[in-house]
Amino acid sequence: MTDFPHIADNLAEVRRHLDAAAKADGRLAEAVTLVAVSKMHPAEAVAAAIAVGQRVFGENRVQEAQGKFPALKAQYPDLELHLIGPLQSNKVPEAVALFDVIESVDREKLARALAGEMQKQKRAPRLFIQVNIGEEPQKAGIAPTEIDAFVKLCRDELALKIDGLMCIPPADKHPAPYFALLREMARRNGLTQLSMGMSGDFETAIQFGATHVRIGTAIFGAR
Ligand SMILES: *Cc1c(COP(=O)(O)O)cnc(C)c1O
Repeated sequence: MTDFPHIADNLAEVRRHLDAAAKADGRLAEAVTLVAVSKMHPAEAVAAAIAVGQRVFGENRVQEAQGKFPALKAQYPDLELHLIGPLQSNKVPEAVALFDVIESVDREKLARALAGEMQKQKRAPRLFIQVNIGEEPQKAGIAPTEIDAFVKLCRDELALKIDGLMCIPPADKHPAPYFALLREMARRNGLTQLSMGMSGDFETAIQFGATHVRIGTAIFGAR
């Protein structure tokens, strides 16, 4: 832990800002889950965060998470692990076995594979649909115009329970209109959870109703 003294301070600082933003939005701090994004940081950094009470973590690659989290999860059964990056269909069995939440459901083929695998393993990670909110060709996610039909497909045809929506707004634009758009899409589809906001914009995201913020750099430092 002594190798990562900054992590406790950074976490306390992020929590302070998160609590203030939630309060300003008229919500309790507990209404916003802090997902500490530990990608490209070692298990020892995760352990330093665990030592000061952090329990929810995000990783963007299945293989990297498999290297770090099984041992930590055995030691801390209340850890909650979120997959926040693209999931290849051939990695679905490992992802269903390891993750508690999969935030990156971004295409029909993946939804179908998850439905089958969840039945097979009798394990049901909570699911978020990733929306390509800025309609950027290089980004994954369901197009905004397709989201209602995709939610319906997941629910009606695949019997998948969907918890919420996730997005990553365009890097070069003010995120507020994109957060507002994601909130509206969730509202009209009866979804209550919104994963939006990263190190640079999480306070804005909370102002627009984020229930989950995914924060890496501000906690663990540069990658
Ligand atoms: C890496 C990553 C984050 C965290 O980004 P920071 O800017 O380091 O806070 C959040 N969400 C996703 C999907 C990511 O890949």
